[in-house]
Amino acid sequence: MDADVIIVGAGPTGLMLAGELRLGGASVVVVERLPRPTGQSRGLGFTARALESFEQRGLIPRFPGLETSPMGHFGGLQFDYTVLEGAHFGARGIPQSQTEAVLETWALELGAEIRRGWEFTDLAQDEDGVEITVATLDGEQQLRAAYLVGADGGNSPVRKAAGFSFSGTAATRGMYLADVTGCELRPRFLGERLDGGMVMAAPLAEGVDRIIACERGTPPAGRSETPEFAEVAAAWQRLTGEDISGGGADWVSSFTDATRQAGEYRRGRVLLAGDAAHIHLPAGAQGLSTGIQDAVNLGWKLAAVVDGWAPPGLLDTYHSERHPVGARLLMNTRAQGEVFLGGTEADPLRELLTELIENDDVKKHLAGMVSGLDIRYDMGGAEGPDGGHPLLGRRLPHRTLRTASGERSSAELLHTAQGVLLDLADDHVLRQASADWKDRVLTVTATAAEPDDAAVFAGAAGVLVRPDGYVAWAGADAGQLTAGLTRWFGPAAVL
Ligand SMILES: Cc1cc2nc3c(=O)[nH]c(=O)nc-3n(C[C@H](O)[C@H](O)[C@H](O)COP(=O)(O)OP(=O)(O)OC[C@H]3O[C@@H](n4cnc5c(N)ncnc54)[C@H](O)[C@@H]3O)c2cc1C
Repeated sequence: MDADVIIVGAGPTGLMLAGELRLGGASVVVVERLPRPTGQSRGLGFTARALESFEQRGLIPRFPGLETSPMGHFGGLQFDYTVLEGAHFGARGIPQSQTEAVLETWALELGAEIRRGWEFTDLAQDEDGVEITVATLDGEQQLRAAYLVGADGGNSPVRKAAGFSFSGTAATRGMYLADVTGCELRPRFLGERLDGGMVMAAPLAEGVDRIIACERGTPPAGRSETPEFAEVAAAWQRLTGEDISGGGADWVSSFTDATRQAGEYRRGRVLLAGDAAHIHLPAGAQGLSTGIQDAVNLGWKLAAVVDGWAPPGLLDTYHSERHPVGARLLMNTRAQGEVFLGGTEADPLRELLTELIENDDVKKHLAGMVSGLDIRYDMGGAEGPDGGHPLLGRRLPHRTLRTASGERSSAELLHTAQGVLLDLADDHVLRQASADWKDRVLTVTATAAEPDDAAVFAGAAGVLVRPDGYVAWAGADAGQLTAGLTRWFGPAAVL
């Protein structure tokens, strides 16, 4: 074997997964066809949940000056996301190239191997592993690993070679995107609907603005076709009346609203993550963030399988947990596309949604969906005395905790990507129950530092958190805790 896991693609998903797998102790080789990073700005930020995922791994200081925006939108209808506790519209203005550079440095520090200029061309899997063929400058090479993950973007050669289905709806709209220079543009951060379509403009750097132009009725152009700046400028002028043809562009691209999802996220020893598993309109900036969360969900599970302690079925929960999240992402981005980009036929829908969005519960619902904070996984074993805790299956909201080693944030406890048992009532029975999992689960006796923060844990003497930050058990019953530990962390250690 060349590695426990081979990842194809050093985009944000592949790089995050490489770091997660290394934290779990798996050896990783990433193959990337590009000899060097593109430097393209693409995804300009991430959602609240992706930001929390970065925080869980201690990555936030690597994004200096990071700011979050309370004001967001759904389909162009603007509202304050902070109506939902913990929510915001995410971090904005961070070019994807910067996010990738941060993740690449982190993955390399953790010991991942990244081979650039290596293009995956084919695969063959058997009972024990997967062999891939790659084209390199030195000719064709074979690599073998126990598992292969295709994090190779929307066109995913891995997905095609492994025979995954990828169904959905074909493109109906095309949009231009450009990072323009030398144009004095009025900011339209959240986009502006116009008679002929929609435009968006946001400052990216000194003298550089990101623009998007969508003209209703224009035929969709494929993602891979690179338009000329003159085409973008002409579309901008038709839509806004502003002439930007005297400026230039650092980068020009086009994209569509094609919406597709792999029917399964795992076929034997081959798995898909990120855009390889789902493509959609980039509405609400959810694409990169969903890939990051796919990686955080998959990393510890795959590492546990490779290490030999994974309980039966653990790896299958990657599909059962993340496929519904992907399907919901496709639904919400399609809905946003209809509302934001549709013509007069969508006016009644827009009017109705404008009325509904006055309601705080509707705002909370939409903010939860787009920010990724509403995700709730089925943790099983919901029956019994601890079945109904509101935290069960949800992400652990970040709180400051008082521990024996001083005040620590709950996110900090997850930096090493192991499970965490919060012993909130200094309960030796719970501590004893978790002792046999101490190689996989860190037990921390803690209380919420602020009385208001304690409310989130009300009724729970202990909270068991998976390495991805989701609560696997919250309650007081040691038998239920043992069941949760066995379900997610495998059998107790044999001493
Ligand atoms: C215009 C636009 C704006 C966007 N804005 C946002 C935003 O604001 N926020 C957001 O969250 N998302 C946004 N997105 C989406 C975001 O860019 C993608 O969701 C994200 O890049 C997906 O990451 P990934 O790692 O899954 O795939 P990719 O970033 O596509 O990475 C895949 C990698 O695989 C490599 N690869 C492909 N084939 C092979 C092969 N055969 N062998 C080896 N390597 C291979 C590629 O070179 C690439 O490096 C936007 C997308 C577009 C198009």
